[in-house]
Amino acid sequence: MDPRRGHFRIVTKMNPIDRTHDPKRRSWVESANGHAEFPIQNLPLGVFSPREGKNRGGVAIGDAIFDMAAAVRAGLFTGAARKPALMAADQTLNRLMALPPSARLALRQRLSDLLSADGADRSAVESLKGELLHPAADCTLHLPAQIGDYTDFLTSIHHAANTGRFFRGGQDPVPANFRHLPIAYHGRASSVRASGEAVRRPHGQHQSRPGEPPTFGPCERLDYEYELGVWIGNGNALGEPIAIAEAGAHIVGHCLLNDWSARDIQRWESQPLGPFLGKSFSTTISPWIVTVEALAPFRVPQPPRSPGDPHPLPYLWDEEDQKGGALDCTLEAFLLTPGLAAKGLPPQRLSRANATDLYWTFAQMVAHHTSGGCNLNPGDLFGSGTISGALADGPGALLELSENGQRPIELASGETRTFLEDGDEVIFHAHCHREGFASIGFGECRGRITA
Ligand code: CA
Repeated sequence: MDPRRGHFRIVTKMNPIDRTHDPKRRSWVESANGHAEFPIQNLPLGVFSPREGKNRGGVAIGDAIFDMAAAVRAGLFTGAARKPALMAADQTLNRLMALPPSARLALRQRLSDLLSADGADRSAVESLKGELLHPAADCTLHLPAQIGDYTDFLTSIHHAANTGRFFRGGQDPVPANFRHLPIAYHGRASSVRASGEAVRRPHGQHQSRPGEPPTFGPCERLDYEYELGVWIGNGNALGEPIAIAEAGAHIVGHCLLNDWSARDIQRWESQPLGPFLGKSFSTTISPWIVTVEALAPFRVPQPPRSPGDPHPLPYLWDEEDQKGGALDCTLEAFLLTPGLAAKGLPPQRLSRANATDLYWTFAQMVAHHTSGGCNLNPGDLFGSGTISGALADGPGALLELSENGQRPIELASGETRTFLEDGDEVIFHAHCHREGFASIGFGECRGRITA
Protein backbone atom coordinates (compact mmCIF):
# COMPACT_ATOMS: atom_id res chain seq x y z
CA MET A 1 0.00 0.00 0.00
CA ASP A 2 1.38 3.39 -0.92
CA PRO A 3 0.90 5.77 2.02
CA ARG A 4 1.19 8.75 -0.31
CA ARG A 5 -1.98 7.79 -2.18
CA GLY A 6 -4.40 8.24 0.63
CA HIS A 7 -4.95 4.71 1.96
CA PHE A 8 -5.15 5.79 5.53
CA ARG A 9 -7.82 6.46 8.04
CA ILE A 10 -6.81 9.87 9.21
CA VAL A 11 -4.71 12.72 7.92
CA THR A 12 -4.83 15.77 10.12
CA LYS A 13 -3.87 19.13 8.76
CA MET A 14 -0.99 19.38 11.17
CA ASN A 15 0.41 15.92 10.66
CA PRO A 16 0.56 15.04 6.98
CA ILE A 17 1.80 11.68 5.80
CA ASP A 18 4.76 12.15 3.48
CA ARG A 19 7.89 10.43 2.16
CA THR A 20 9.30 10.14 5.69
CA HIS A 21 6.58 7.56 6.47
CA ASP A 22 7.13 5.49 3.32
CA PRO A 23 7.47 1.90 4.59
CA LYS A 24 9.79 1.09 1.69
CA ARG A 25 12.31 3.71 2.77
CA ARG A 26 15.43 2.04 4.13
CA SER A 27 18.45 3.52 5.86
CA TRP A 28 22.15 3.08 5.16
CA VAL A 29 22.35 2.58 8.95
CA GLU A 30 21.71 -1.16 8.59
CA SER A 31 20.49 -1.76 12.16
CA ALA A 32 17.58 0.63 11.52
CA ASN A 33 16.00 -1.57 8.87
CA GLY A 34 13.31 -3.63 10.58
CA HIS A 35 14.27 -2.18 13.96
CA ALA A 36 11.40 -2.66 16.43
CA GLU A 37 11.76 0.81 17.95
CA PHE A 38 13.75 3.18 15.75
CA PRO A 39 13.47 2.52 12.01
CA ILE A 40 14.04 5.49 9.69
CA GLN A 41 10.29 6.23 9.83
CA ASN A 42 10.54 7.17 13.55
CA LEU A 43 13.48 9.58 14.08
CA PRO A 44 12.76 10.50 17.72
CA LEU A 45 14.58 13.46 19.27
CA GLY A 46 16.59 13.34 22.46
CA VAL A 47 19.65 14.45 24.42
CA PHE A 48 22.59 12.15 25.00
CA SER A 49 26.25 12.08 25.91
CA PRO A 50 28.81 9.71 24.46
CA ARG A 51 31.21 7.93 26.83
CA GLU A 52 33.51 10.94 26.81
CA GLY A 53 31.74 14.11 25.83
CA LYS A 54 29.19 16.70 26.70
CA ASN A 55 25.43 16.47 26.47
CA ARG A 56 24.08 17.24 23.01
CA GLY A 57 21.00 16.59 20.93
CA GLY A 58 20.63 13.39 18.95
CA VAL A 59 18.25 11.26 16.94
CA ALA A 60 17.73 7.53 17.49
CA ILE A 61 18.31 5.48 14.34
CA GLY A 62 18.42 1.70 14.80
CA ASP A 63 21.05 0.79 17.38
CA ALA A 64 22.81 4.12 16.91
CA ILE A 65 22.39 7.76 17.84
CA PHE A 66 22.82 10.38 15.13
CA ASP A 67 24.80 13.26 16.62
CA MET A 68 23.05 16.51 15.78
CA ALA A 69 25.97 18.65 16.95
CA ALA A 70 28.37 16.81 14.63
CA ALA A 71 25.87 16.97 11.77
CA VAL A 72 25.44 20.72 12.17
CA ARG A 73 29.24 21.17 12.24
CA ALA A 74 29.45 19.17 9.02
CA GLY A 75 27.05 21.65 7.38
CA LEU A 76 24.39 19.04 6.59
CA PHE A 77 21.43 21.36 7.20
CA THR A 78 20.48 24.34 5.07
CA GLY A 79 17.34 26.30 4.31
CA ALA A 80 14.29 25.72 6.50
CA ALA A 81 15.98 22.78 8.28
CA ARG A 82 18.98 24.80 9.47
CA LYS A 83 17.43 26.64 12.42
CA PRO A 84 15.65 23.62 13.91
CA ALA A 85 18.80 21.54 13.36
CA LEU A 86 20.89 24.02 15.35
CA MET A 87 18.39 23.85 18.18
CA ALA A 88 18.10 20.05 17.97
CA ALA A 89 21.83 19.97 18.79
CA ASP A 90 21.35 21.86 22.09
CA GLN A 91 21.90 20.39 25.56
CA THR A 92 18.15 20.67 26.13
CA LEU A 93 15.55 20.80 23.39
CA ASN A 94 13.40 23.63 24.81
CA ARG A 95 14.39 26.07 22.04
CA LEU A 96 13.53 23.50 19.38
CA MET A 97 10.21 22.75 21.07
CA ALA A 98 9.26 26.44 20.94
CA LEU A 99 9.44 26.46 17.13
CA PRO A 100 6.29 26.05 15.03
CA PRO A 101 5.48 22.52 13.79
CA SER A 102 6.57 23.46 10.25
CA ALA A 103 10.17 23.85 11.46
CA ARG A 104 10.15 20.38 13.03
CA LEU A 105 8.70 18.98 9.83
CA ALA A 106 11.52 20.52 7.77
CA LEU A 107 14.05 18.99 10.19
CA ARG A 108 12.38 15.58 10.00
CA GLN A 109 12.29 15.56 6.21
CA ARG A 110 15.97 16.50 5.97
CA LEU A 111 16.97 13.91 8.59
CA SER A 112 15.04 11.23 6.74
CA ASP A 113 16.72 12.15 3.43
CA LEU A 114 20.18 12.23 5.04
CA LEU A 115 19.72 8.79 6.57
CA SER A 116 17.96 7.23 3.59
CA ALA A 117 19.76 4.51 1.66
CA ASP A 118 18.58 6.23 -1.52
CA GLY A 119 19.38 9.77 -0.36
CA ALA A 120 21.13 12.12 -2.77
CA ASP A 121 23.82 12.83 -0.16
CA ARG A 122 24.30 9.25 0.94
CA SER A 123 27.97 8.81 0.06
CA ALA A 124 28.96 12.16 1.57
CA VAL A 125 27.00 11.52 4.77
CA GLU A 126 28.03 7.88 5.10
CA SER A 127 31.69 8.85 4.78
CA LEU A 128 31.24 10.92 7.97
CA LYS A 129 29.57 8.15 9.93
CA GLY A 130 32.50 7.83 12.34
CA GLU A 131 31.64 11.31 13.64
CA LEU A 132 27.88 11.27 13.06
CA LEU A 133 26.93 7.96 14.66
CA HIS A 134 27.47 6.65 18.18
CA PRO A 135 26.52 3.15 19.29
CA ALA A 136 23.50 3.77 21.55
CA ALA A 137 24.81 1.17 24.00
CA ASP A 138 27.87 3.38 24.66
CA CYS A 139 25.82 6.51 25.35
CA THR A 140 23.92 7.93 28.29
CA LEU A 141 20.47 9.35 27.61
CA HIS A 142 19.26 12.39 29.50
CA LEU A 143 16.01 14.28 29.94
CA PRO A 144 15.33 15.86 26.54
CA ALA A 145 14.20 19.19 27.97
CA GLN A 146 14.35 21.32 31.06
CA ILE A 147 10.88 20.63 32.39
CA GLY A 148 9.36 23.79 33.80
CA ASP A 149 6.07 22.28 34.91
CA TYR A 150 4.65 18.79 35.08
CA THR A 151 0.91 18.08 35.22
CA ASP A 152 -0.54 14.63 35.69
CA PHE A 153 -4.02 13.82 34.41
CA LEU A 154 -6.54 11.10 35.26
CA THR A 155 -8.15 10.25 31.94
CA SER A 156 -8.65 6.47 31.72
CA ILE A 157 -12.15 5.58 32.83
CA HIS A 158 -11.22 2.00 33.74
CA HIS A 159 -8.43 3.27 35.98
CA ALA A 160 -10.74 5.88 37.50
CA ALA A 161 -13.37 3.25 38.23
CA ASN A 162 -10.90 0.78 39.73
CA THR A 163 -9.10 3.28 41.96
CA GLY A 164 -12.42 4.87 42.91
CA ARG A 165 -13.60 1.48 44.13
CA PHE A 166 -10.46 0.96 46.23
CA PHE A 167 -10.07 4.51 47.56
CA ARG A 168 -13.64 5.76 47.89
CA GLY A 169 -16.13 2.93 47.48
CA GLY A 170 -19.76 3.88 46.89
CA GLN A 171 -22.23 3.38 44.05
CA ASP A 172 -20.48 4.88 41.00
CA PRO A 173 -16.74 4.69 41.64
CA VAL A 174 -16.05 7.11 38.75
CA PRO A 175 -15.92 10.66 40.16
CA ALA A 176 -18.89 12.85 39.18
CA ASN A 177 -16.68 15.29 37.26
CA PHE A 178 -14.68 12.67 35.32
CA ARG A 179 -16.93 12.61 32.24
CA HIS A 180 -17.08 16.42 32.12
CA LEU A 181 -13.41 17.40 32.30
CA PRO A 182 -9.93 15.87 32.16
CA ILE A 183 -9.05 15.77 35.89
CA ALA A 184 -5.46 16.61 36.83
CA TYR A 185 -3.12 17.74 39.57
CA HIS A 186 0.12 19.69 39.40
CA GLY A 187 3.07 17.37 39.91
CA ARG A 188 6.74 18.01 40.62
CA ALA A 189 8.98 18.64 37.63
CA SER A 190 12.09 18.48 39.83
CA SER A 191 11.85 14.72 40.41
CA VAL A 192 11.28 13.63 36.80
CA ARG A 193 14.17 11.41 35.71
CA ALA A 194 15.22 9.63 32.53
CA SER A 195 14.81 5.87 32.19
CA GLY A 196 17.39 3.78 34.01
CA GLU A 197 17.83 5.89 37.11
CA ALA A 198 17.11 4.02 40.36
CA VAL A 199 13.98 4.87 42.33
CA ARG A 200 14.44 5.14 46.08
CA ARG A 201 11.57 3.78 48.15
CA PRO A 202 10.06 6.84 49.82
CA HIS A 203 9.41 7.28 53.51
CA GLY A 204 6.23 8.93 54.63
CA GLN A 205 3.21 9.02 56.89
CA HIS A 206 0.74 6.24 56.55
CA GLN A 207 -2.14 4.95 58.58
CA SER A 208 -2.21 1.19 59.04
CA ARG A 209 -5.85 0.98 60.15
CA PRO A 210 -8.70 3.49 60.05
CA GLY A 211 -8.95 5.43 63.30
CA GLU A 212 -5.38 4.72 64.38
CA PRO A 213 -2.66 7.39 64.50
CA PRO A 214 -0.27 7.44 61.53
CA THR A 215 3.30 6.20 61.60
CA PHE A 216 6.32 7.38 59.60
CA GLY A 217 8.42 4.88 57.69
CA PRO A 218 9.19 3.24 54.36
CA CYS A 219 6.30 2.98 51.92
CA GLU A 220 4.72 -0.47 52.15
CA ARG A 221 2.53 -0.23 49.06
CA LEU A 222 4.82 1.00 46.31
CA ASP A 223 3.25 0.97 42.85
CA TYR A 224 3.82 2.15 39.30
CA GLU A 225 1.42 3.83 36.87
CA TYR A 226 1.74 3.32 33.12
CA GLU A 227 1.11 6.63 31.35
CA LEU A 228 1.95 8.38 28.11
CA GLY A 229 3.88 11.61 28.48
CA VAL A 230 2.89 14.64 26.43
CA TRP A 231 5.64 17.15 25.53
CA ILE A 232 4.37 20.69 25.13
CA GLY A 233 5.91 22.80 22.37
CA ASN A 234 5.13 26.45 21.76
CA GLY A 235 3.15 27.78 24.69
CA ASN A 236 0.51 30.44 25.29
CA ALA A 237 0.52 33.82 26.99
CA LEU A 238 -0.89 34.05 30.50
CA GLY A 239 -4.61 34.69 30.28
CA GLU A 240 -4.93 33.45 26.70
CA PRO A 241 -6.41 29.96 26.47
CA ILE A 242 -5.49 27.60 23.64
CA ALA A 243 -8.58 26.74 21.59
CA ILE A 244 -9.07 23.02 21.17
CA ALA A 245 -8.79 23.26 17.37
CA GLU A 246 -5.29 24.73 17.85
CA ALA A 247 -4.23 22.45 20.69
CA GLY A 248 -2.56 19.80 18.54
CA ALA A 249 -0.08 22.37 17.22
CA HIS A 250 1.17 22.89 20.79
CA ILE A 251 2.18 19.25 21.26
CA VAL A 252 5.66 18.20 20.11
CA GLY A 253 5.45 14.51 20.82
CA HIS A 254 5.15 11.76 23.38
CA CYS A 255 7.17 9.55 25.70
CA LEU A 256 6.40 6.78 28.18
CA LEU A 257 5.93 7.89 31.76
CA ASN A 258 5.95 5.99 35.03
CA ASP A 259 4.16 7.90 37.77
CA TRP A 260 5.57 5.94 40.72
CA SER A 261 2.98 5.97 43.49
CA ALA A 262 3.21 5.29 47.22
CA ARG A 263 -0.35 4.08 47.77
CA ASP A 264 -0.28 4.09 51.57
CA ILE A 265 1.15 7.63 51.72
CA GLN A 266 -1.24 8.77 48.96
CA ARG A 267 -4.30 7.37 50.68
CA TRP A 268 -3.64 9.06 54.02
CA GLU A 269 -2.53 12.46 52.68
CA SER A 270 -5.11 12.94 49.90
CA GLN A 271 -7.87 14.08 52.25
CA PRO A 272 -9.09 16.52 51.04
CA LEU A 273 -6.36 17.70 48.64
CA GLY A 274 -4.77 15.72 45.85
CA PRO A 275 -1.56 13.72 45.47
CA PHE A 276 1.51 15.18 47.16
CA LEU A 277 4.33 13.11 48.71
CA GLY A 278 2.74 9.89 47.52
CA LYS A 279 3.71 10.91 43.98
CA SER A 280 6.44 13.54 44.16
CA PHE A 281 9.39 11.30 45.08
CA SER A 282 10.01 10.15 41.51
CA THR A 283 8.65 10.07 37.95
CA THR A 284 10.49 8.15 35.24
CA ILE A 285 10.19 8.87 31.52
CA SER A 286 11.54 7.26 28.37
CA PRO A 287 14.12 9.72 27.05
CA TRP A 288 13.18 9.87 23.36
CA ILE A 289 10.52 12.30 22.13
CA VAL A 290 8.51 10.40 19.53
CA THR A 291 7.20 13.32 17.52
CA VAL A 292 3.61 13.90 16.48
CA GLU A 293 4.92 13.91 12.91
CA ALA A 294 6.25 10.35 13.33
CA LEU A 295 2.96 9.29 14.93
CA ALA A 296 0.77 10.67 12.11
CA PRO A 297 -0.01 7.24 10.58
CA PHE A 298 -1.23 5.93 13.93
CA ARG A 299 -3.87 8.58 14.60
CA VAL A 300 -7.34 7.12 14.94
CA PRO A 301 -10.77 8.46 15.87
CA GLN A 302 -11.43 8.99 19.56
CA PRO A 303 -13.58 6.02 20.64
CA PRO A 304 -17.22 7.06 21.09
CA ARG A 305 -18.48 7.76 24.58
CA SER A 306 -20.86 5.31 26.21
CA PRO A 307 -24.57 5.97 25.71
CA GLY A 308 -25.75 8.26 28.47
CA ASP A 309 -22.37 9.93 28.97
CA PRO A 310 -22.63 13.72 28.84
CA HIS A 311 -21.48 15.60 25.75
CA PRO A 312 -18.41 17.68 26.62
CA LEU A 313 -18.81 21.44 26.83
CA PRO A 314 -18.01 23.33 23.59
CA TYR A 315 -14.50 24.40 24.65
CA LEU A 316 -13.56 20.70 24.90
CA TRP A 317 -15.13 19.61 21.63
CA ASP A 318 -13.68 19.68 18.14
CA GLU A 319 -14.86 17.46 15.30
CA GLU A 320 -11.37 17.19 13.76
CA ASP A 321 -9.96 16.18 17.15
CA GLN A 322 -12.66 13.51 17.50
CA LYS A 323 -11.80 12.18 14.02
CA GLY A 324 -8.08 11.82 14.64
CA GLY A 325 -7.15 12.80 18.17
CA ALA A 326 -6.57 9.32 19.57
CA LEU A 327 -3.42 7.26 19.19
CA ASP A 328 -3.35 3.55 18.30
CA CYS A 329 -0.43 2.43 20.42
CA THR A 330 0.02 -0.86 22.30
CA LEU A 331 1.38 -0.40 25.82
CA GLU A 332 3.04 -3.23 27.74
CA ALA A 333 4.37 -3.25 31.30
CA PHE A 334 6.92 -5.83 32.46
CA LEU A 335 8.35 -6.71 35.86
CA LEU A 336 11.84 -8.09 36.47
CA THR A 337 12.28 -9.26 40.05
CA PRO A 338 15.50 -10.46 41.69
CA GLY A 339 13.95 -13.97 41.67
CA LEU A 340 13.25 -13.91 37.92
CA ALA A 341 16.76 -12.58 37.24
CA ALA A 342 18.40 -15.22 39.44
CA LYS A 343 16.71 -17.97 37.46
CA GLY A 344 17.64 -16.39 34.14
CA LEU A 345 13.96 -15.77 33.37
CA PRO A 346 12.91 -12.81 31.24
CA PRO A 347 10.89 -9.88 32.57
CA GLN A 348 7.29 -10.98 33.05
CA ARG A 349 4.54 -9.07 31.34
CA LEU A 350 2.04 -7.64 33.80
CA SER A 351 -0.32 -5.78 31.52
CA ARG A 352 -1.22 -4.79 27.99
CA ALA A 353 -3.44 -1.86 27.04
CA ASN A 354 -3.81 0.65 24.23
CA ALA A 355 -3.63 4.43 24.25
CA THR A 356 -7.14 4.41 22.76
CA ASP A 357 -8.27 3.44 26.28
CA LEU A 358 -7.98 7.14 27.20
CA TYR A 359 -11.35 8.84 27.70
CA TRP A 360 -9.99 12.31 26.78
CA THR A 361 -7.68 13.27 23.91
CA PHE A 362 -4.35 15.06 24.34
CA ALA A 363 -5.86 18.14 22.64
CA GLN A 364 -8.66 18.15 25.22
CA MET A 365 -6.02 18.07 27.98
CA VAL A 366 -4.24 21.10 26.48
CA ALA A 367 -7.50 23.00 25.94
CA HIS A 368 -8.71 22.30 29.47
CA HIS A 369 -5.34 23.07 31.10
CA THR A 370 -5.25 26.53 29.49
CA SER A 371 -9.00 27.24 29.61
CA GLY A 372 -8.66 29.24 32.83
CA GLY A 373 -5.78 31.25 31.44
CA CYS A 374 -2.85 29.17 32.74
CA ASN A 375 0.15 29.49 30.44
CA LEU A 376 2.12 26.52 29.14
CA ASN A 377 5.78 26.73 28.19
CA PRO A 378 8.00 24.80 25.79
CA GLY A 379 9.25 21.71 27.60
CA ASP A 380 6.28 21.38 29.93
CA LEU A 381 5.28 17.77 30.47
CA PHE A 382 1.88 16.16 30.94
CA GLY A 383 1.16 12.63 32.10
CA SER A 384 -1.94 11.18 30.45
CA GLY A 385 -2.97 9.41 33.63
CA THR A 386 -2.71 5.66 34.10
CA ILE A 387 -3.89 3.89 30.98
CA SER A 388 -5.92 0.84 31.93
CA GLY A 389 -7.71 -1.36 29.43
CA ALA A 390 -11.07 -3.01 30.07
CA LEU A 391 -9.72 -6.58 30.00
CA ALA A 392 -8.31 -8.51 32.95
CA ASP A 393 -4.70 -7.88 31.86
CA GLY A 394 -5.43 -4.23 31.00
CA PRO A 395 -4.72 -2.36 34.25
CA GLY A 396 -1.68 -0.09 34.20
CA ALA A 397 -0.97 -0.27 37.95
CA LEU A 398 -0.45 -2.97 40.60
CA LEU A 399 -3.21 -1.43 42.74
CA GLU A 400 -5.68 -2.63 40.12
CA LEU A 401 -3.88 -5.82 39.03
CA SER A 402 -3.67 -7.06 42.64
CA GLU A 403 -7.13 -5.73 43.51
CA ASN A 404 -5.79 -3.40 46.18
CA GLY A 405 -3.35 -6.02 47.44
CA GLN A 406 -6.02 -8.72 47.89
CA ARG A 407 -4.98 -10.92 44.96
CA PRO A 408 -1.23 -11.64 44.73
CA ILE A 409 0.23 -11.88 41.23
CA GLU A 410 2.09 -15.13 40.61
CA LEU A 411 5.41 -14.91 38.81
CA ALA A 412 7.24 -17.56 36.77
CA SER A 413 9.99 -17.59 39.44
CA GLY A 414 7.53 -18.83 42.07
CA GLU A 415 7.47 -15.39 43.72
CA THR A 416 4.29 -13.39 44.22
CA ARG A 417 3.69 -9.65 44.23
CA THR A 418 0.96 -7.33 45.38
CA PHE A 419 3.16 -4.21 45.40
CA LEU A 420 6.81 -3.58 44.47
CA GLU A 421 9.70 -4.90 46.55
CA ASP A 422 13.28 -3.62 46.68
CA GLY A 423 15.24 -4.79 43.65
CA ASP A 424 12.16 -5.01 41.43
CA GLU A 425 12.49 -3.36 38.06
CA VAL A 426 9.48 -2.06 36.10
CA ILE A 427 9.92 -1.81 32.33
CA PHE A 428 7.49 -0.20 29.88
CA HIS A 429 7.43 -0.71 26.13
CA ALA A 430 5.07 0.74 23.55
CA HIS A 431 4.69 0.15 19.83
CA CYS A 432 2.54 1.52 17.05
CA HIS A 433 1.56 -0.88 14.28
CA ARG A 434 -0.49 -0.36 11.19
CA GLU A 435 -0.79 -2.33 8.00
CA GLY A 436 1.03 -0.62 5.18
CA PHE A 437 3.35 1.31 7.50
CA ALA A 438 6.58 0.64 9.34
CA SER A 439 6.00 -0.11 13.04
CA ILE A 440 7.69 2.26 15.47
CA GLY A 441 8.41 2.12 19.19
CA PHE A 442 9.19 4.46 22.06
CA GLY A 443 12.24 2.73 23.53
CA GLU A 444 12.33 1.71 27.17
CA CYS A 445 11.06 3.36 30.30
CA ARG A 446 12.79 1.46 33.10
CA GLY A 447 13.35 1.94 36.80
CA ARG A 448 14.55 -0.29 39.67
CA ILE A 449 13.44 0.12 43.26
CA THR A 450 16.14 0.54 45.88
CA ALA A 451 15.75 0.59 49.65
CA1 CA B 1 -0.81 9.22 37.62
